[in-house]
Amino acid sequence: MKPRTLERRYLFLGSLVLKTGLHVGGGWTVGSLSDTPVIRTPDGRPFIPGSSFKGSFRSTVEKLAPAVGLKSCGLMADQGCVGAQGSEQSDFNRRRREETWTDDRLLTELTQHLCDTCKLFGSPFAASRIIFADLLPPAEDTMADKMIQVRDGVAIDRDSEKAVDRLKYDYEVVAPAQTFRLEIGLEDPSSIDLALTCLGLSEFVSGLGYIGGHRSRGLGHCQVHDLAIYELDLTVDDVAERAHRLKKYLLGQTPADKMVRLPDAQAFLTTHLRTLPALQEVPHA
Ligand SMILES: [Zn+2]
Repeated sequence: MKPRTLERRYLFLGSLVLKTGLHVGGGWTVGSLSDTPVIRTPDGRPFIPGSSFKGSFRSTVEKLAPAVGLKSCGLMADQGCVGAQGSEQSDFNRRRREETWTDDRLLTELTQHLCDTCKLFGSPFAASRIIFADLLPPAEDTMADKMIQVRDGVAIDRDSEKAVDRLKYDYEVVAPAQTFRLEIGLEDPSSIDLALTCLGLSEFVSGLGYIGGHRSRGLGHCQVHDLAIYELDLTVDDVAERAHRLKKYLLGQTPADKMVRLPDAQAFLTTHLRTLPALQEVPHA
């Protein structure tokens, strides 16, 4: 198998703005006295772990993928994908052992037996091609107290319909309107990977994104603003141009130094969404 070399890379930057409160709990809860604190950075500010956002983004894409004509197992067994745990995965592993596959054979089999969302977001057999950085508040937001609210939750007695005293509890949320810096990387995507990424981004840009727990309490509604897309394309035939782009990429300090900012992020999303099987123009008979 030929070693992989970097050919194309995309970087999606933007602001994730909360339309409602957000609750993402977790291990780092420095300085909170709440029963159910939100996750914080070591300096006490709330943040959204990249893995949490990836989970929300993945399930958003998984829900839409079948509707647009692509395959998604949703990480559930018996959907014809070896990415999910279950008999399909163990049968695949057994065949791989018994037939002593070469790396090339494994690659061919994975191309046939992994669904489109497992190829993009990763599976036990293939690394994720999309990478989500932790979403931090902007550097100027230093007042952790203003960014976090404590809300009361009460358990209601079914018979008396009164609050049960000892079942009162509180929980923290990140305040509505708080923003976080969004950074998503995509490495050597196929055209389907790009289209699925644009599908997820489009939902969040349109204000239809959700993240974190307690959605039944109306939490976690968010929107991506100011999406900027940067591209590194090393697939050009012109050797001098390729060397120039690589040098710029390796020596640059900021995304703008390293890559090319695409002029119209919305047009990029639309172009790639149109490649989805269900959205291709069908000529009228
Ligand atoms: Zn799958």
